[in-house]
Amino acid sequence: MSDVVKKDSVSINDPSTTTTTASQATSPVSVPDVDNYVAYTIKNTKALPPITWSNLLNELNWLSVYILTVPPVVGVVGAFYVKLQWETAVWAVAYYFLTGLGITAGYHRLWAHRAYNASLPLQYILAALGTGSLQGSIKWWSRGHRAHHRYTDTELDPYNAHKGFWYAHVGWMLVKPRRRPGAADVSDLRHNPVVKWQHKYYRSLILFMGFILPSLVAYLGWGDAKGGFIYAGVLRLVFVHHSTFCVNSLAHWLGETPFDDKHTPRDHMITAFVTIGEGYHNFHHQFPMDYRNAIKWYQYDPTKWCIWVLSKLGLASHLKVFPDNEVRKGQLTMELKKLRRTQDKLSWPSDSNDLPVISWESFTSQAEKRPLMLISGFIHDVSNFIEEHPGGEHFIRNYIGKDATTAFFGGVYDHSNAAHNLLAMKRVGVLHGGSPHGLDDKRAIPPSQRLRIARYTELLAPGSSSTYSDGEDGLL
Ligand SMILES: [Zn+2]
Ligand SMILES: [Zn+2]
Repeated sequence: MSDVVKKDSVSINDPSTTTTTASQATSPVSVPDVDNYVAYTIKNTKALPPITWSNLLNELNWLSVYILTVPPVVGVVGAFYVKLQWETAVWAVAYYFLTGLGITAGYHRLWAHRAYNASLPLQYILAALGTGSLQGSIKWWSRGHRAHHRYTDTELDPYNAHKGFWYAHVGWMLVKPRRRPGAADVSDLRHNPVVKWQHKYYRSLILFMGFILPSLVAYLGWGDAKGGFIYAGVLRLVFVHHSTFCVNSLAHWLGETPFDDKHTPRDHMITAFVTIGEGYHNFHHQFPMDYRNAIKWYQYDPTKWCIWVLSKLGLASHLKVFPDNEVRKGQLTMELKKLRRTQDKLSWPSDSNDLPVISWESFTSQAEKRPLMLISGFIHDVSNFIEEHPGGEHFIRNYIGKDATTAFFGGVYDHSNAAHNLLAMKRVGVLHGGSPHGLDDKRAIPPSQRLRIARYTELLAPGSSSTYSDGEDGLL
């Protein structure tokens, strides 16, 4: 099997294997000069075979399996034997937020995305809290997450959402990675003293931050060491795990795409509630270096609020915000796409390029056989409208075979926009020399077509030339 893949078969919190990955990742990242890096890499690197029932046991990443299965069992069983005290409940929730923020404000926004600068004391606190979430080292976590952003929804994305909700949630950790994640540079983290400190004391930090500290606080505070261990330690850990995992699963599955619909990330309030504010994931994938996930004040993003407060306390600085003008361009693009879909569902009048060009003589002679009328250079067949004309049949009949432009636009009655739109649907031809592409005469363009959604190719494409057909069958 591929050596490369084996080297990268790391578990979520195994520092020894993390070293291997980190040293690979921090070596100068060489990306081949090819048209499509993802396609090239998939073609030229080996992957482990797909998981099947027969190879499942051999392909499991047992350390991750234990870490993701033992705490829920211990937590639930422990909860039967250890009564929950209210002080412990409050502490467990508080510690859930604290260790969760270690991941969201620390691992994610600070180290993986460098969305702001943190003072050294804050970095130590975030690194310690993040370690209490048992999600691997900062470097390993950031390396995978940067690959996730660079190669979203591809085989080089370690938690590729296209492989299914549960794969993105936990599956990618439970089995050995099928292939190495795409190249991502984490050399900036290599010399970070806090990242190095975390690595050096990783196992001790896990024990202390994950289990000893939550028990100790409950013991010293209100004499509930067991409750502290079960509720603020073990069960809190299960909740933090699945909270973070939801960023890879739920945030790529539930909600809207207000900024871009190229990939799976989505915005949803529910995801935000279960992930301490990481639920505006469509925005985040578009503007990953922004310290915010939610850009509106009323949206739930406690991680953003926390970073902002820390900046006011002088512990954080250089909070990055993507230019609002560019954010709004993304939103506008998505709104235009929606409008374009609405526009495409409607029927539109033929324009001068699609209609036969008719001479005045042909027009007047054909108008003797059927009710044709000239308005703004277009010839209209009003046969199925004469009786329904709100202004009366008489007015229409007066203008058959004639130019009714002035009468339609106010000479007799200044018609409504809706009337103009409806009239345009009755076009059957263009008068030769009567409508010089209509653009210099606003009246040739119905109100519904004066503002339209057009793709750039449609704006640039020259119109097809009209076919001149001066004859009896020109209109038909
Ligand atoms: Zn994502
Ligand atoms: Zn991210």
